[in-house]
Amino acid sequence: MGRKHRRAAEAVPLRPIGAVTAVQSHPDGDWHVRPISGSVAAKAYRCPGCQQEIRPGTAHLVAWRADTHDGDEHRRHWHTPCWRARDRRRPGG
Ligand SMILES: [Zn+2]
Repeated sequence: MGRKHRRAAEAVPLRPIGAVTAVQSHPDGDWHVRPISGSVAAKAYRCPGCQQEIRPGTAHLVAWRADTHDGDEHRRHWHTPCWRARDRRRPGG
């Protein structure tokens, strides 16, 4: 039961699930950032900031590039503190 039928005429980039997706400017570009509440975090993810697992039920965030066309396909799940610490780790900062 694959998803072979695509409704090309109705592309919905963001589902209205109640979360607010913000655009943040960072030294490496603009990023979409969407907070994920613990109640909807049903899967475990690997945080690219600390290489630790984000356990199900943990509030965290999803970030993806806003300034590249394919950024939407490269979403990363981050611990919220790891995302915030990201800028502070930049070289020369
Ligand atoms: Zn982390």
